[in-house]
Amino acid sequence: MNSYDVAIIGSGPGGYVAAIRCAQLGMKTAIIEKYSTLGGTCLNVGCIPSKALLSSSHHYEEATKHFEEHGIEIPGEIKVNLEKMIGRKQSVVDQTTGGIDFLMKKNKIDVYEGLGSFKDATHIIIEGKDAGEIEAKNIIIATGSKPSNLPFIELDKERIITSTEALKLKEIPKHMIIIGGGVIGLELGQVYYRLGSQVTVVEYMDRILPTMDAGLSKELNKVFKKAKCKMMLSHKVQSVERIGDEVIVKAENKKGELVEFKGDYCLVSVGRRPYTDGLNAEAAGVNINDKGQVDVNDHLQTSASNIYAIGDVIKGAMLAHKAEEEGVFVAETIAGQKPHIDYNLIPGVVYTWPEVAAVGKTEEELKADNVEYKVGQFPFRALGRARASGDIDGFVKILADKVTDEVLGVHMIGARCADLIAEAVTAMEFRASAEDISRMSHAHPTFAEAVKEAALAATEDRALHV
Ligand code: FAD
Ligand code: NAD
Repeated sequence: MNSYDVAIIGSGPGGYVAAIRCAQLGMKTAIIEKYSTLGGTCLNVGCIPSKALLSSSHHYEEATKHFEEHGIEIPGEIKVNLEKMIGRKQSVVDQTTGGIDFLMKKNKIDVYEGLGSFKDATHIIIEGKDAGEIEAKNIIIATGSKPSNLPFIELDKERIITSTEALKLKEIPKHMIIIGGGVIGLELGQVYYRLGSQVTVVEYMDRILPTMDAGLSKELNKVFKKAKCKMMLSHKVQSVERIGDEVIVKAENKKGELVEFKGDYCLVSVGRRPYTDGLNAEAAGVNINDKGQVDVNDHLQTSASNIYAIGDVIKGAMLAHKAEEEGVFVAETIAGQKPHIDYNLIPGVVYTWPEVAAVGKTEEELKADNVEYKVGQFPFRALGRARASGDIDGFVKILADKVTDEVLGVHMIGARCADLIAEAVTAMEFRASAEDISRMSHAHPTFAEAVKEAALAATEDRALHV
């Protein structure tokens, strides 16, 4: 039987990054993945394919709606070849997952294809292509998550679908009804409205992106409404029924009335659930809590002291970069180091256009904590760079402590915010004040100038360009 210092179950961004870091630290490492490709949800059916389709559909929107104003004329009709678009997405996925194969080989990590389940706290049984048993001193559970569903919805995966199917549709829906105005609903909703679908978003809460700063929700809602999407907020879905090629969604509005929506596809995007099916965690003495998550302490150690868990399968945000940080954290902990993660400084990004990004506390959270804060906000439309490219929607908002001026939260919506947020994370890691940011030189003309201007506005209400 092969023996390892560390065995990792699951090869998503949590698992494969943990494997690389363990190998870098000199540990003999194995990774077990039930699918034939590595990379987990993120690389196969999550981050990467959704961003590929967002990019393709963005190009289409630019070509059909914005090229003309730039003086670019394309004779004839501009058409979408969905099959080719989905094919390109798949080749991006294939290249990316292939890259993980390379990294496993480079780092001399043994890869086992098959379902991993615990025999006990140090032995894993593998069922599938590489069937057998391995032994490991330490084990990391990185089994990720799956789409959750509402109890009354039967997902047929043809017309009533999850994000996984929405990433490989064979036709452009005429009318896609999206249940859940969270990250997946909005990213994929934008893909399909750009390609020509009518999109209706049915959201239970009174705003989309309910966990983000309310100002961001409001601004993105405007973008969707401008694109003629129906944004049905405060609507609680009661039933979803398929009749032939038609899908009928019934939801209760604020007044208690039942409202009906008819479409040809219904995307259910109401969150994801931690995935531990088939793991046989109890055989190793690993506790699963009532939310279905693997229970961990501050060291990400489970109730079995040699077994750790990371990523979507434990508490916290279900984000690839959070899983990656935890992978590194556990590898270093096993190696005897004392790593640290500041969960408050894990940014959240929605890759719509305009992009939405945030780090730190929201105004709602600061108010709830009775923290006195000041706000500096700057609109992109006041930037030369934004006007030059035609991306004038959105703003950067900086929240700073009223007394110390320390930056407590940064919330932004606009072009390239997914990348701009890194400056805010860096500043907050170093506990910068708004004045610190405002005194740093930002290249002109760039979108990043909005961060400096918002910092100036927060410091002394002295933004230069408004
Ligand atoms: P996963 O990536 O889910 O990987 C777990 C792996 O474990 C899977 O490959 C699974 O097959 C395997 N596994 C499970 N059980 C076993 C077993 N018993 N034996 C062997 N293998 C097993 N996050 C972002 O940060 N940015 C984004 O842009 C983003 N976009 C997303 C878009 C979509 C459509 C979706 C669905 C998710 C997106 N996410 C995004 C979330 C991101 O994909 C997850 O947070 C991330 O993949 C979690 O990583 P993980 O390693 O914990 O688990
Ligand atoms: P989510 O939690 O972001 O959004 C789910 C939405 O569904 C919420 O707004 C919620 O209020 C709503 N909802 C729940 N029950 C409902 C009901 N009965 N009727 C109507 N609406 C209802 O979940 P998601 O969009 O499915 O994404 C799952 C996870 O994947 C998220 O945690 C997210 O972090 C991750 N993800 C991240 C990215 C990214 O980082 N860009 C992209 C996609 C997914």
